[in-house]
Amino acid sequence: MTRNEILNGLQSLRAKEVSRIESNPHKPFKVGLVYPNTYFVGMSNLGLQIIYEEINARPTSCGERYFLPPNSELRDYEKHRLPLMSVETQRPLYECDVIGFDITFEMDYFNIPTLLKLGRVPVKRIHRIERDPIVIAGGPCATFNPEPVSDFIDAFIIGEGEELVSHVLSVIEQGRNEQWLRSDILLALSKITGVYVPALYEPQFDDSGRFAGYHLAEGISGTAENVAVTVTENTKNTNSTVSTGCVVPKVTRHWKSLDTVGETVIATDFTEFGAMYIVEVARGCGRHCRFCMAGYCYRTPRVRRLDLLKAGVDRAAALNKKVGLMGAAISDYPDIDELVTYIRSKGLRYSCASLRADSLTQAVVDGLAASGQQTITIAPEAGSDRLRRVINKGISNEDMAKAVKLAAKAGIPHIRLYIMVGLPTETEEDVMAIVSMAEDVYAYMQEAGCKGRLTLSVNPFIPKPFTPFQWMPMAHQKDVTKKLNTIKKALSKNRRIEVLVESPKEAYIQGVLARGDRRLGDIILAAVEAGGPKQFKKACNEYAYDMDEALYRERELTEPLPWDMLDMQLAEGYLAAEWQRSLTEVYTPPCQEGCKRCGVCVG
Ligand code: SF4
Ligand code: SF4
Repeated sequence: MTRNEILNGLQSLRAKEVSRIESNPHKPFKVGLVYPNTYFVGMSNLGLQIIYEEINARPTSCGERYFLPPNSELRDYEKHRLPLMSVETQRPLYECDVIGFDITFEMDYFNIPTLLKLGRVPVKRIHRIERDPIVIAGGPCATFNPEPVSDFIDAFIIGEGEELVSHVLSVIEQGRNEQWLRSDILLALSKITGVYVPALYEPQFDDSGRFAGYHLAEGISGTAENVAVTVTENTKNTNSTVSTGCVVPKVTRHWKSLDTVGETVIATDFTEFGAMYIVEVARGCGRHCRFCMAGYCYRTPRVRRLDLLKAGVDRAAALNKKVGLMGAAISDYPDIDELVTYIRSKGLRYSCASLRADSLTQAVVDGLAASGQQTITIAPEAGSDRLRRVINKGISNEDMAKAVKLAAKAGIPHIRLYIMVGLPTETEEDVMAIVSMAEDVYAYMQEAGCKGRLTLSVNPFIPKPFTPFQWMPMAHQKDVTKKLNTIKKALSKNRRIEVLVESPKEAYIQGVLARGDRRLGDIILAAVEAGGPKQFKKACNEYAYDMDEALYRERELTEPLPWDMLDMQLAEGYLAAEWQRSLTEVYTPPCQEGCKRCGVCVG
């Protein structure tokens, strides 16, 4: 591609967008919002859009978006010596005062150094000098364990970014205007509840190389005590506060009520969910599945008011877009039938991010069928009732039979099941139960008149921080491969049942990244310089980072963990107690009004 073709490509993406808000390039404070993947992937991320709106709503800041150029273009950027440029004005990344990454997937960690390098910003935070942009990051990965990428990021937003991001930008802007030292700006940021500044937390390792906790710094520079923080943002409806004093041993995550609009800000056809106008219905989930990081890190479950959602549907109608209902378990939304009826009354189609087999209604399924949906996806996660009790899934074969009947009645032909292998305590019987469950569901389909295909989407289980399984080893790759082959072979007789397995190798890289510590920064960088994630294992060997130990060692309940400096507001011992309950297969009921069980709703 020529230089002009690259510039025209960005301008043409912008020209084809329909935006609800304006990004005014003349505002003085420049914020580069970076999604560490392509435009096509990133523009379907609602979190990015919500933060973009908030940045541009600030009177002094101009938010512009940056994405990873497609692989085919990366070499052309180098050839023409072009820096990473924004979609809005083609401003180079290095001109921004602040750069904010939205990190949603572990595999995107490898794109962070690439983007910074292309943007001509020093990749490692320790190499940045006074006038370099301050690099912040948020998103689910930043929330559950920021350590693997903390060499690249100056400050992380832990939890939900809305409202907190304005607060963070105000402090940085004040620091820039008053010419504070960079270190003082970072120290001031560390005083905000919900902000983690890695320079203030020095990881320690014991003689065997195991993570042993953090040393807390007193300040980043000798001038730390001179920092004065003035906060002028309105922090109504938020638990964000500014405090003075020493570095806190634990950073409490930020979260907020869903009392404002949360939906697509910039509509474009050139993205994964391009046909859709995304409306966030709910956040957090109260079902307590024990493997689910989002279930623990985004409590308590909250829903948007129906009138806010209907107004969003009206905006989707004005653009003639399909409505994408976003949330942890959409079918749990109390007014779901009224909402889908309203969408249909506008002549619109819709789809749902996730459905629970035990809360599906005929109105929802009929609407999906009328929207052209050909498949209902159910996530039993495990085959046996025993293992579903261990993970607290609470879905029975009867629930699945009911979901299949609803699908058949609505004329939806195909069913997809999400399954994990390698869950804690899994036995060979549990693996064979996946096969018999698939056969049962296929039989329900025959009985109900679902004439299509049954697809099993099977993935290795990855233990995640802030879940009761955070201490558990990942099942060995060889065993998981064997189990996957057993399932495939056993179901191969029926050509209407297909088994899809997504890259197990990648799952094991994710497994290391999810629970890794700060040493991974150099390893990620080395892998990127050697060609990308496929070089990760080699880079681990070069740096003597024991992947097997990281993946397969069961952690002691009392041992320090790299994410211990974060506080999800769960009561002391809650996760360990849930681990014990999983071993004894004790059911933990969903969140309910007045409950204070896990500690999040206390106070
Ligand atoms: S239903 Fe379970 S898996 Fe789904 S979001 Fe809720 S807790 Fe997570
Ligand atoms: S305190 Fe109870 S209702 Fe609140 S998040 Fe925890 S379990 Fe759910």
